[in-house]
Amino acid sequence: MIIAIDGPAASGKGTLARRLAAHFGLPHLDTGLLYRATARALIDAGERLDDSVRAEAAARGLALTDFDEDKLRGREMGEAASVVAAIPAVRKALLEMQQTFAARPGGAVLDGRDIGTVICPNAQAKIFVTASPETRANRRALELAGRGEKVDYAAVLEDIRKRDERDSSRSSAPLVIAQDAVVLDTSALDIAAAFKAALAIVDDKRG
Ligand code: C5P
Repeated sequence: MIIAIDGPAASGKGTLARRLAAHFGLPHLDTGLLYRATARALIDAGERLDDSVRAEAAARGLALTDFDEDKLRGREMGEAASVVAAIPAVRKALLEMQQTFAARPGGAVLDGRDIGTVICPNAQAKIFVTASPETRANRRALELAGRGEKVDYAAVLEDIRKRDERDSSRSSAPLVIAQDAVVLDTSALDIAAAFKAALAIVDDKRG
């Protein structure tokens, strides 16, 4: 069974994807890390984020196993990731890696922006997780503070709005709701309630 979870930044999709994967005993891929790691490789090499040739090479050079999440989760890396993610050659370079992961025997859970639309259009269960920008900014601010980053709520909200706009308006694999996805708004839900709702959606799709 392939479970595709998409949604905007800080919607709760990562937490739900991890929980669903643990519940069903499936491997999980957080595809945002691929774009974050591509951006990180460019920054570390002193290259521009919008250099499509170098960005494609950085994406092709990634190994799924060498993500240092501590270096990738910070605020600027989300922003940098959305710049490289708008480059079609980068998306193409990362496509096969994601589809190979999804094709594991038994299935997988993938979360991102284009899982239900581009990476796994045939996924059995597709959930589009969303929440209001203010709710998402609150969550992201708490998460960043927990990681020891200095947090300015207004700046986090601004980042989220900017990222929503960039991810939704790019020409290649924009953030859109797959036609057959179920929308799950987590604005008024805590993690337990959101998980229960997500599980009900998946169970319903599994028949
Ligand atoms: O999900 P996360 O915040 O880690 O993603 C970082 C950025 O990577 C997103 O803002 C988006 O631009 C890009 N991304 C994407 N497609 C995915 C996953 C992430 O374009 N499947």
